[in-house]
Amino acid sequence: QDPLQLLKSRTQKSFELFKEAQKVMPGGVTANIKYFEPYPIIMEAAEGARLKDVDGNEYVDYLLAYGALILGHGHHKVMNAVIRQMVTKGTTIYGTPHELEMEMAKRLIKLYPGIEQVRYTNSGTEATLLAIRVAHAYTGKPKIAKFEGHYHGGYDQVLLSINPPLEQAGPADRPVAVPDSAGVDPYYLEHTVILPFNDLEACAAILKEQADQLAAVVVEPVQAGFIPATETFMRGLRKLTEELGILLIFDEVKTCFRVALGGAQSVYGVTPDLTALGKVLGGGFPIGAVGGKKEIMEVASPHGKKDVFEMNVTSKKKDVLFHSGTYNGHPSVLAAGLATLDVLEDQDNFETIVRTTEKLRRGLENVLKYYQIPAQTLGMGSIFNVVMTAEKITNYRDLQNANLSLRRELDYHLLTLGIYTKPLNRYSLSLAHGDREIQQTIDAYEAAVKRLLV
Ligand code: PLP
Repeated sequence: QDPLQLLKSRTQKSFELFKEAQKVMPGGVTANIKYFEPYPIIMEAAEGARLKDVDGNEYVDYLLAYGALILGHGHHKVMNAVIRQMVTKGTTIYGTPHELEMEMAKRLIKLYPGIEQVRYTNSGTEATLLAIRVAHAYTGKPKIAKFEGHYHGGYDQVLLSINPPLEQAGPADRPVAVPDSAGVDPYYLEHTVILPFNDLEACAAILKEQADQLAAVVVEPVQAGFIPATETFMRGLRKLTEELGILLIFDEVKTCFRVALGGAQSVYGVTPDLTALGKVLGGGFPIGAVGGKKEIMEVASPHGKKDVFEMNVTSKKKDVLFHSGTYNGHPSVLAAGLATLDVLEDQDNFETIVRTTEKLRRGLENVLKYYQIPAQTLGMGSIFNVVMTAEKITNYRDLQNANLSLRRELDYHLLTLGIYTKPLNRYSLSLAHGDREIQQTIDAYEAAVKRLLV
């Protein structure tokens, strides 16, 4: 049975709406990532661990808005906190400092070893962008280094070598920068150095050559949320960057509150100079944050300096880092984030989500093993992925050896069986995923695998 045909027959209304959407949005989507063949399924409602599409099909949701919803959809404590904030305080936003900003900052400082001060943004993209600007401002150096296969948001400086064709990507121990989008400013091909993940020796050679030019190395400690750095690599990278005078930025947008409440840095026992946060931090609302050592973060302090928006600027001095944003530190978003953190820290809720994730991983592994499909699950905390190869996976290039077409076919079958993640995407879990959802998913997996094998 062709899973695409089956999927189309169940999602006719999605198809009709998608045809309309294509008239008003390029490709019918508002973010390229939301598109998949033959057309994205259009949702109209969600509750707990479940999504409902416009044709009335229900799905157990493992996309969870790319990991943002760690308590599931519509958790009552998050909803109540947002409503309470708006109703009792009488506004959506003040446009001035307010106490929730400080409250969240204090919580983050307590949880994250690398955070002594915090600034908010409206997305993970803006968070890594700000962290990188802070690094340039603090060190005065013009380049940064990022890893092949690592995503930090959609701007030119880091929109390089996330998913490069191997024939353009250069040698494994000395990857070259390949743009991931049309329109990337060629300046960044020269100013963003690409590093091989989990290969300390190769990184050392590249970083030593470029040390006087490099402001920072930015890294996802767990690549794409499922390929962990080895401990040796993470410790080695910290030592190396310290010795060479390069700042180390952890992009924990995906890992914060997912691999541990204190992020990957608390798991590895490695303290970065700067940390970018996002996703779960806003409890389902748009947010990002940058935290770091006080001495470094203070480059953003405006004390005694003129703001670019001030009138009558007499000095042209630009020695204060510019950081602004109408919606930064939005009270309703912080109320949602704080409520999320309250629930995660309550009893053993965080550990429960991790245990549920482990249970699902073991269940899926058992199905794949029983039907002799070479595959593994890889991940940390409450995120994982299913990779169709028994070979060891440590970086982007290893991943290219996995059987992507088999995985894609399996994912389409799963969509027709009521299990949602975007084809080839990761699985994120939430507090709303219970035994019923896990058993339903394992059963669907078995049914999908059986269909693959006929
Ligand atoms: N950094 C990482 C590791 C991410 O996974 C993402 C989003 O997927 C981002 C940055 C960008 O975050 P946002 O989509 O909120 O801009």
